[in-house]
Amino acid sequence: MIDRNIYSDIGQVKQVMSDAVPSIARTRPAETKKISVLGATGSVGLNTLDLIARNSDSFEVVSLTANTNVNGLAEQATKHRAKLAVIRDERKYQELKSALSGSGIEVAAGEQAVIDAAIRPVDWTMAAIVGAAGLMPTFAAVRQGHSVALANKECLVSAGTVFMHEVKSSCAELLPVDSEHSAVFQALSEVSHECIEKITLTASGGPFRKWTKEQIDRATPTDALNHPVWSMGKKISVDSATMMNKGLELIEAFHLFPVDSHQLDILVHPQSVIHCLVSFVDGAVMAQLSEPDMRIPIAYSLAWPGRMETPSAKLDLAILGTLQFEAPDEDRFPCLRLAREVLEADCTRGAILNAANEVAVEAFLKNALEFSAIPEVVESVLEKAESHFTTLRLSNLEDVLSIDQESRRLTHELLSALL
Ligand code: NAD
Ligand code: MG
Repeated sequence: MIDRNIYSDIGQVKQVMSDAVPSIARTRPAETKKISVLGATGSVGLNTLDLIARNSDSFEVVSLTANTNVNGLAEQATKHRAKLAVIRDERKYQELKSALSGSGIEVAAGEQAVIDAAIRPVDWTMAAIVGAAGLMPTFAAVRQGHSVALANKECLVSAGTVFMHEVKSSCAELLPVDSEHSAVFQALSEVSHECIEKITLTASGGPFRKWTKEQIDRATPTDALNHPVWSMGKKISVDSATMMNKGLELIEAFHLFPVDSHQLDILVHPQSVIHCLVSFVDGAVMAQLSEPDMRIPIAYSLAWPGRMETPSAKLDLAILGTLQFEAPDEDRFPCLRLAREVLEADCTRGAILNAANEVAVEAFLKNALEFSAIPEVVESVLEKAESHFTTLRLSNLEDVLSIDQESRRLTHELLSALL
């Protein structure tokens, strides 16, 4: 296993933070930036492409990838005059080829083609595939030494230490996109790491913040997808409802920032205007605020170390009037406890936590599992894994993929016994 401590001060994102002070640059870069978007048809992918469309002189789109959504991919590829469009589902190859015929856009299909798209030379890659499916393409982009804007948090949850090692050895630049982690990245840019006492990630609390335990237990997929603040893909929306999303983000932050697990905290803040709080040893606290609009952290990762204009609404605190804060409730949201336990054990069981959660969420979305069973299934798989795996040593991506696959198998086995 790679000892995280030896990398505690050399993850590229940390180097990036300590070496450079972001400048306020409103001018366009002199040259166009070549970019690729992995997961181009999703919520983060489309927000990224919205920014690109508004600044089309500054960017050139190389690869766009998607899972099964041919029409969405063809539309974005045409609009942005992409060089390459890749659909993961090989059965959709002909459909994509017809949709893009005469456009001059190269077309490919299949898992390997998504990875090949990720390694096309570019200046900047958005990693916005959802789930562990993003592992191989994101690793591939990192290995090219690209600037990688990381939305795919599951990559860090499953493979954090191995991933950060790869970032370091490939001299890639890692730019956090998750709004809270972008916020910490911004708040830490001019600060020495020894001065950090604590990092607090804020959480909207999700759609069930005010629901009783009994009501939460009976929640349906429609209830869970009805997020009060953010409009996101289905998987992360359910994760927000169980609050597993915030648990995954604790693990994400552990790998990204130079802090120990006990220095990471969560605060429920329903307006989602404050995205992080960084507390320093002298008692000062830096917060990063903005309207809850993913285009702001995405724009920061695109323009870093400068900034670019976005169409997002400007924050007006006088209109907002009041900001609320609450402690997280691990009793109503047991996924928070499960993720924290994984975090406190140095995240070695991150791949198991993530795989079990992905499978349970998928079953819930298909109405095959009760909402209350999501944390129960994840907890059972974590317990079973203790005796099942002879080792949790993760030395490379293959180790991570093998633990991921086996954990999925264990979860499906458990689900078959339950249903
Ligand atoms: P989404 O479901 O809206 O989009 C996912 C994208 O991944 C789509 O383009 C889809 O085609 C592609 N994809 C799905 N399965 C794939 C597979 N097997 N192979 C290749 N491509 C595949 O998801 P999203 O909400 O955009 O989230 C993307 C990632 O960003 C997630 O990891 C999420 O946790 C993270 N994130 C999202 C938000 C948000 O506001 N949506 C905020 C912070 C972090
Ligand atoms: Mg987030």
